[in-house]
Amino acid sequence: MSRLVSFNTQALLMLERSNTKCLDDFSRPRSEMATASEICGCHRKVTLQVTLPALPSARELRQKRRGHIFEIDQAERFQVMGFTEVTPKEFPTTTGPCFTRQLVIEHPDQPIGSHLDFVVKHKDGSIHIIECKTTDGIPVEPYGNWVDQIHIQLGLLAVNFTGIEIRGSIIASDLSAGEEEEYNSFSPDMTLLDYYVERGKELIEAKAGRTTPTTMPGILCGFCSYRAGCPAHRDRVIPNEITERVTEYEILDHRKKDLEKSLDPIKKELIAFFGKRFQGVTEDGIAVATTTIAPGETVDSATLKADFPDVFKNCSRPKAGYTKLEIRKLPPAPLAKAA
Ligand code: SF4
Repeated sequence: MSRLVSFNTQALLMLERSNTKCLDDFSRPRSEMATASEICGCHRKVTLQVTLPALPSARELRQKRRGHIFEIDQAERFQVMGFTEVTPKEFPTTTGPCFTRQLVIEHPDQPIGSHLDFVVKHKDGSIHIIECKTTDGIPVEPYGNWVDQIHIQLGLLAVNFTGIEIRGSIIASDLSAGEEEEYNSFSPDMTLLDYYVERGKELIEAKAGRTTPTTMPGILCGFCSYRAGCPAHRDRVIPNEITERVTEYEILDHRKKDLEKSLDPIKKELIAFFGKRFQGVTEDGIAVATTTIAPGETVDSATLKADFPDVFKNCSRPKAGYTKLEIRKLPPAPLAKAA
């Protein structure tokens, strides 16, 4: 690792330590409560993070920083659009339009809580929470654990701000590609909150060592520092011939990505030269054509379904499912282990 990269990693580790300290501001110790992000994640990983903390890898630190940078950006966007930033303490008594960041919210009777990325108050007093996610590529649908998380946050807000209209959105941003997508129309559901409270209690039992935590194997297992010995992976033996195919796929996929990286800048140069509409043939006999697709409109199916269920029913068609294959090389061992 170069000196500057190593210096930067150390700096990120220090920033992470101070950010993590700020997150310990609940009325109960973290070991005796469950936060929204913990409830929605892998309980084995959360429990081991308490009993056997491992330092995050350099890559994880950079990814977390990317999330913080997006939050700073989002705050500036609210400000420029006329929303005043107030402290979490000032938020309940300030009239809208205003917003606050990292509002700590807890259930008054149950050991669950959350830090809310953004809570916005409109002129009419209604409240909108926004959960920020930075991604590589924008998913077509929000991931299940994102949806779980916002439902917990909405439920917690509803028990603390009774009688106020509350809504929520998830905003996903791919900072490198400059793409953003909002998944909206979430509202509090108290039956769901009861379910998550029970999940939270199960996690607290596991944190105390009284029960075995449940696992949630997924693609993020590839970044998990506790994968060694994880029961979710112990018995999933992959035969040799499949391993070879997996390796072959991973190599080819890597090559494809490298090729795409080389193709993209050339493609941009060629479009800049040929313009929006062109047809021709080079001296070597290679046909070239550019065509431009006009901007279109999409329909927000969730809103359509909620507001005009009959229209939605008449217009919707069954969509075939498909199976996704995700293959990614596992990272090396974590950076270091805490003493
Ligand atoms: S490897 Fe996956 S399932 Fe196992 S502890 Fe880590 S995140 Fe959970």
